[in-house]
Amino acid sequence: MTKTNVTVLGLGAMGAALAAALVRAGHPTAVWNRTPAKAHALVALGATAADTVPDAVTASDVVVACLLDAASVHDVLDPVADLLTGRTLINVTTTTPEQAREIAAWAAGHGVAYLDGGILAVPPMIGLPGSSILCSGSEAAFEQHRPLLDLWGASTHLGDDPGLASLYDLALLAGMYVMFAGFFHGAAMVAGAGVSATAFARRAAPWLSAMTGALAGLAAVVDGGDYTAPGQQSLDFSDLRDLIDASAAQGISTEVVDVVQELIRRQVDAGRGGEGFARIYESVKHPA
Ligand code: NAP
Repeated sequence: MTKTNVTVLGLGAMGAALAAALVRAGHPTAVWNRTPAKAHALVALGATAADTVPDAVTASDVVVACLLDAASVHDVLDPVADLLTGRTLINVTTTTPEQAREIAAWAAGHGVAYLDGGILAVPPMIGLPGSSILCSGSEAAFEQHRPLLDLWGASTHLGDDPGLASLYDLALLAGMYVMFAGFFHGAAMVAGAGVSATAFARRAAPWLSAMTGALAGLAAVVDGGDYTAPGQQSLDFSDLRDLIDASAAQGISTEVVDVVQELIRRQVDAGRGGEGFARIYESVKHPA
């Protein structure tokens, strides 16, 4: 089978992992990094180091950008825009949806096929089950290069709007960060009783995993829009006062849980206390 030539620009923790997966799968892989020393390990693996960005871009029809942010994508690619014409740019640099759309428009203006990617993995997970690659933008580019993307994780095309991958990526990260903050809050609570964070994690992990089973039901309530249907835990019942008082008594910050209590309070104050907990979605959707 013919192996596609691929260029990877940016060899930080993630770019290096992506490039290594390509090399291991037998793709001729050209790599470039602003700090050249980061290419050494990949060259030892079988990649070819390009001395300059023009050399890197012209080595392959498929160019992967895994840089720090949208500004660094422009720093690296603007000077070589003409060389990118006719090639495919797969940009897996984390950006906002608006920045992804702006880079896609820039690419279209230079005749570059553009695919935006959001990586739902940390570098050691690349190529392993559990890693997924969210894509948006050119569907033709996605279909053509899906085997490359699947080397990194299970890939999905979310739509032609290039901002969609970033939107989903950031929305999923919102859940992750708030969950982690909740875990740290709990760990700080039990620390006062001499419990280590490690010991607490052994209890928290199965509990939080079990609770993810509630997401589909809560989502069905949100989508149905009926927060009065029977079987829902009410907002009044969900009052976090005990949790907040117990935290304050431990002398720890209540900021993490105050946020949730405030979302509940706004609905209760609007006379919705008897309705389901999923109604805090409305507090998020309609800022105070
Ligand atoms: P990193 O280790 O900090 O690497 C950043 C890379 O960007 C380096 O190659 C750095 O070059 C380069 N860079 C920064 N500014 C530059 C500029 N102005 N011009 C040229 N190169 C520039 O970050 P990373 O973990 O590889 O992440 C790369 C992208 O993947 C980010 O957008 C990140 O959000 C995304 N991502 C990362 C993870 C993760 O767990 N690491 C997960 C999902 C998505 P130098 O080596 O010369 O500094």
